[in-house]
Parts: sequence; C-alpha cells; structure tokens
Amino acid sequence: MTRRPLAWLEEELQTLDQLHMRRHLRTHHGPQTAEQTVDGQQFINFGGNDYLGLAADPRLGEAAIAAIQQEGWGSGASPLVTGHGVSHAALEAALAELEGTEAALLFSSGFAANVGTITALAGKGDVVFSDAKNHASIIDGVRLCGARPQIYQHLDVDHLEKLIAQASAFRRRYIVTDTLFSMDGDFAPLVDLCELADRYDATLIVDEAHATGVFGEQGHGVCEHLGVEEQVDVRIGTLSKALGGHGGFVVGGQQLIDWLLNRARSYVFSTAAPMAASAAMLAALQIVRDEPERRQLLLKRADALRETLRKQGWQVGGESQIIPILLGEPEPTMQASHRLRDQGLFVPGIRPPSVPSGESLLRISLSYAHTPAHLDKLTTALATLRQQLL
Ligand SMILES: *Cc1c(COP(=O)(O)O)cnc(C)c1O
Repeated sequence: MTRRPLAWLEEELQTLDQLHMRRHLRTHHGPQTAEQTVDGQQFINFGGNDYLGLAADPRLGEAAIAAIQQEGWGSGASPLVTGHGVSHAALEAALAELEGTEAALLFSSGFAANVGTITALAGKGDVVFSDAKNHASIIDGVRLCGARPQIYQHLDVDHLEKLIAQASAFRRRYIVTDTLFSMDGDFAPLVDLCELADRYDATLIVDEAHATGVFGEQGHGVCEHLGVEEQVDVRIGTLSKALGGHGGFVVGGQQLIDWLLNRARSYVFSTAAPMAASAAMLAALQIVRDEPERRQLLLKRADALRETLRKQGWQVGGESQIIPILLGEPEPTMQASHRLRDQGLFVPGIRPPSVPSGESLLRISLSYAHTPAHLDKLTTALATLRQQLL
C-alpha cells in the first residue's frame, strides 16, 4: 500500500469548507493601491493596511533603487555577522530619533519583533499578562517564552488588576498589549495600564503595529496620542502597515536594545532584510514627518464613514481607520463580503480563528489613498446590503 501520512488533511480541509472557514490565496497584479486588479477583476481595496497610501509611492521606490545601486540587493548574513548595512543603521537612527528614544532595532517582520522581544525579556519564574485579543505574534511570544501566561479580558483593567495583585511572588511581571486592536479597532487603556505597571512593578510592552504613522501629533502611535510615551518601557512597531513597506522594529533605551540584539532569537538567527528595504522606509519616515495631513485626513474620513454607517443601522465599532461592522456568524459575514465583491468592493469578512466565535465582522480598512468617490461607492453598496439583510 502507498504510504499517505497526510491523508487526514483532506478531511480537515473539507471541514473548513463546510464551516465557511477555508481561506484561499488571491493574487493582485500591479502595485498596492486603492484600486487593485485581483485575479483579473478590478476592486476598490478596503482590505489593506497601507493606511497612508505609501506602499506604491514613487519616493519609496526611488529610495530603494538608489540604495540598490549603492549597496546591492541582498544583505548576505544576519545583522551580527556581516549583514548590518548603512541603510539599516540609518533607519534605526531615524526611528529612534522620530520616536524620541535612545535606540531602535530592526527585525525582519513585526511578527519576529514580537516573538523575539517577548522571549528575550520574559522567562521561567516570570508572569506575562496578555490581553485576550492580542495579535497572534504576541500570543506566540508569550507561549514560547516560558513565563506563566495570564490572559486578561479584552481591555479589562479591573480583571488585570485582580490578577496582577496576586503576582508579587513572581520574579518579574510583564503586561503586553496591542495599542490599536486590529480587528475591533479599539485602543488599549494605556493610561490605566501604565498606572498598574507602576503600582505593581511590572514592565509594559506595547505593539503599535496599526497605529504607527497614524496616531499622535507626530505619528508615533497611540502612546503619543494618549500622552504615555515616556511611561511605556518597550514599544514595538511594524514598517509593513502605515509605512507601506516591510519589517518590524523595537524602540527603547540603549540597554534594552543591546539586550535584544544579544538575546532575541528571531533577530540573532535571521538574515537582515535587504538594505534597500530600509532605505525605502527612511523615505516613508520622512513623509510621515513632512505630510501630517495624510494621517489627519484619514482619521477625519474614518469618523465621517462611521457616522454614515451608524445612520444606516449597522453596528459599527472602533475609533480609528479600522472600521469593523459586527455581524456575528461567519456565514452571513462571508455572504456580505461576497456581495460587495461582486460590486467591485473588496471588504474582507473576518471570522474565527481571527476573531472569537460569534464575533465575525466585515472589516473596512481606510487608506489616505481612498478618494471621496471610492467612499461613496462603499456607502451606497452598504445601504443596499442593509436593506437586503433586514
Ligand atoms: C500585523 C501585525 C503584526 C505583524 O507585523 P508584520 O510586520 O506584518 O509581521 C504584529 N502585531 C500586530 C498587532 C499586527 O497587527
């Protein structure tokens, strides 16, 4: 008989199909812009994370091309061996300067930054308090690090305090949270978290992935927006969302950065990104600095859209450029997403395991690149859909 050790996959995939939970990969042609051609069909894209419309900005591409001419393409090694190039160093310096910290460290992705940072800081004998809706990369970091995981209810400071008040026997206490939650668009209660960290001698680690470049007067993120930058011990971010590129980073004190570059395994044992990727991100940071109107207009439009959708009768959440429409079950959610897609609007349906069971939603991601005409088309289609669902 032929050996077929992976035969079980067929049945499991069928189960995903039956639950309307199977995902499929689509391929877009051309640049990542508000209008996209995906598998031959044209869409207005409300599913991306290119919040400031920088992914296809020619200034980023030009910076990358210039760097390729100077430094070539591949980095050739992990950073500590021979992979750390001039553009990497320049981007780290610029990130630290922009964020007002002593130092910064680049990782190959935001995912790697979270896993590497949490596992480098927390370990056996420690306890990590983690919001129930934290990003998968935080969850994996917490699982891997060897500390006792304690999950507190989403945004629930009282629940966290109950848990942390009993944790004085642990060697060290960590609180870790997204600052802007990617599915429901909520902010973490950072002012309260800082206060708890202070009172119970804990270290606060935050992930600004969806907020970098968007929130705060200078675009640092929610920490700046809520005025707690100085009090947050470890700030993690990504270059892959509002900055329109790829890669992750950590900013903080020099000793933190020195420790991470010695101990974060996803940093030490992974090849440095191409230098040109950093050069492009240096150009993106300059745009964040020079063109605050991008983030201002984005957030203004998001508020207006939320208001319109509420008037249409949808249950809409959040207070950011991420606008969730709560529908509950996966099937109607995917149906709504498909109907919008038939009309040339890409609005992803989000279902388990990305959200808890019963909390499926349509997730609108706004970008500075969307025009008023794009938004009109979306609100008109959603008004019709609302009538059909009633
Ligand atoms: C997207 C995301 C990440 C991962 O960042 P990448 O650079 O895409 O790997 C980490 N944390 C949060 C909260 C995210 O939304």
